[in-house]
Amino acid sequence: MTTLMTYAGPVDERAPVMRTGGIPLVPAVFTWPLCATCSGPMMFLAQLPVDGPGAHTSGSVADARHVLSVFMCQNDPGACEEWDPFAGGNEAFLFDGSGLAAAAVPTDGEALALETCGIDCAVLSEDDYGGARSQWSQAHGRLARDVLGQLAGTPSWLQGDETPACPSCAAPMGFVAQLEEGDGHRTSMNFGGGGQGYAFACSPCGEGSFLWQC
Ligand SMILES: [Zn+2]
Ligand SMILES: [Zn+2]
Repeated sequence: MTTLMTYAGPVDERAPVMRTGGIPLVPAVFTWPLCATCSGPMMFLAQLPVDGPGAHTSGSVADARHVLSVFMCQNDPGACEEWDPFAGGNEAFLFDGSGLAAAAVPTDGEALALETCGIDCAVLSEDDYGGARSQWSQAHGRLARDVLGQLAGTPSWLQGDETPACPSCAAPMGFVAQLEEGDGHRTSMNFGGGGQGYAFACSPCGEGSFLWQC
């Protein structure tokens, strides 16, 4: 089984839904992440539901137990090791799903994506991500690039398996989502050109992690 994330068009920048871009929903105490290399604010990429009743079908993050919020430096693409889970060029926060509100956005640097893009879910019986992507595209007469990734399931690695170890408990982290670069030039995230992003969490420890391959 594969849960595909599919392009649902622009949504409100504060919408409590699974989305790429817009303003992240964060807890009351939150500091916008800065890049370890260039010290600029990271760009908010996506918020994803984790462990929710219906989190895998409704697209809402409001009923998810946790929300994974992914940021990556885009101030000087390629120069800040933003592909690495632990080099400080990206950040993935695992928030409790309740009580989140729109963050205060830094006014300097590349903090926000150009478009806020909603995400629908489509559950297919096919286990292989690439196969599911093709099936969905053919069945719905939509472009394969309208598939924005997959939620949970098994990562489809472009390179080798790089599942990170949890920084707190050292266990392999749980796979949350795989992200494509995006639907078009306005919404695209930069994973090196044709790359794939991989988001992970360790819910008991409250840890998140992100990396990409191309
Ligand atoms: Zn940077
Ligand atoms: Zn852990």
